[in-house]
Amino acid sequence: MMIYGLQKLTLLDFPGRVACTVFLGGCDMRCPFCHNSEIAEGKAPPVMSEAELLSFLEKRKGLLEGVAVTGGEPLLREEHLELLRRIREMGYPVKLDTNGTHPERLARVLSEGLAQYVAMDIKNSPARYAETAGLKQMDLAPVRESVRLLMRGETEYEFRTTVVKELHDDESIRAIGEWIDGAARYYLQKFTDRETVPYEGFHAPAEEQMNRWAEMLRPHVKEIGIR
Ligand code: SF4
Repeated sequence: MMIYGLQKLTLLDFPGRVACTVFLGGCDMRCPFCHNSEIAEGKAPPVMSEAELLSFLEKRKGLLEGVAVTGGEPLLREEHLELLRRIREMGYPVKLDTNGTHPERLARVLSEGLAQYVAMDIKNSPARYAETAGLKQMDLAPVRESVRLLMRGETEYEFRTTVVKELHDDESIRAIGEWIDGAARYYLQKFTDRETVPYEGFHAPAEEQMNRWAEMLRPHVKEIGIR
């Protein structure tokens, strides 16, 4: 198995921990605002093998406090679960990013303790989900099941939405709030443009819009933040 990116040190990706970030290849969504579209679409060349990553992690024992695993979609392939097991066997806590499309694998991650923190994307309201994920149509049942699994609260988690002026509106936020009502933690993430974003013409919502949306969501979640 190949690794498609490694950020050797991050203070941001794993809450409260000095960590590295590992990027796994492939994704079943095509979000037009994706920052890692080359990795998601499998166009980026790999940067190292799994063995090289494990050797790096072995050397960093005692220095790194955790490993953030992202993509692409880390739960896209069965072999990715095996990598999580190996990282856990080395004693590292794992933070996992997911788009929620593989609840059966997420369930195993949770039951086997393969992640100590899970960050799941809520792309948009159900009505605009496929559009926001860059798909013609999609079955939302797996995403709903992933939300349900996380909201059992056995593992620390957050939901987060990358908000884009052209894709999100008051109705999006209202519907998201109803959907995740009772969730532990939710973040509104302001879209930032980059060269790697596949679609041109997206903008970040204004600051006051972000604050207003946060207030709309506040009654539905225990903790809310803006990034
Ligand atoms: S789910 Fe994440 S990795 Fe996949 S296309 Fe969307 S933003 Fe990119």
